[in-house]
Amino acid sequence: MIIAIDGPAGAGKSTVAKILAQRLGFLYLDTGAMYRALTFKVLEKNIQISDEPTISRLANEVKIDLSTNPDGSLSVILDGADVSLAIRQPRITQVVSDIAKIQKVRTVLVQLQRELGLKGNCVLDGRDIGTVVFPDAQIKFYIDASAAQRVSRRYKELSGLGQQIALEDVARDLSNRDKIDSTRQASPLRKADDAIYIDTTELSIEQVVQKMLDYCKING
Ligand code: C5P
Repeated sequence: MIIAIDGPAGAGKSTVAKILAQRLGFLYLDTGAMYRALTFKVLEKNIQISDEPTISRLANEVKIDLSTNPDGSLSVILDGADVSLAIRQPRITQVVSDIAKIQKVRTVLVQLQRELGLKGNCVLDGRDIGTVVFPDAQIKFYIDASAAQRVSRRYKELSGLGQQIALEDVARDLSNRDKIDSTRQASPLRKADDAIYIDTTELSIEQVVQKMLDYCKING
């Protein structure tokens, strides 16, 4: 079974997706981590963000592996190197949406996501899972929250990772990414018609997970 979770940055998708996958004994696939890993490679190789042909070629060459550790955390391996923490750096976050809007990049990564997702029961989170990657997913959620709440959550998350970052910078980054992600030509962020919409602004993580589990029990 495939469970697709989409929504804007900072809505809490990856947090709840990880817990949901654990509780159901499903695999968890953080598709944003794949776009981040490719972005890491682009910056490492000093490729211009505007150089779409070179970036598209690179997408075909890199090897990205995702695995879940026994404690539930995710390891992202890029060409054999562990980049799990490095891909969360602000320099990656600032440009990842510009890389993710390249159609050829999406074609390669979507193919990989389909292959990995079909290995077993899987929870995937991203921007286009219910609309493009797995339009036939049995269960789809669209997770949202107010802009202020999303900024506050992302700020806490980054501070927890030890990043010294100003609240205004987090707010600017989120609104910039939301704009690019939802207005790009190639599979823009949007709620699939058959996705369940959950506004998490006033809900705790546990309340969101419980809502999702209840829905899975009835419809799974
Ligand atoms: O989920 P996360 O915030 O780590 O994703 C980073 C970026 O990757 C998003 O802002 C978006 O540009 C891109 N992305 C995407 N499609 C996905 C997952 C992420 O375009 N399925």
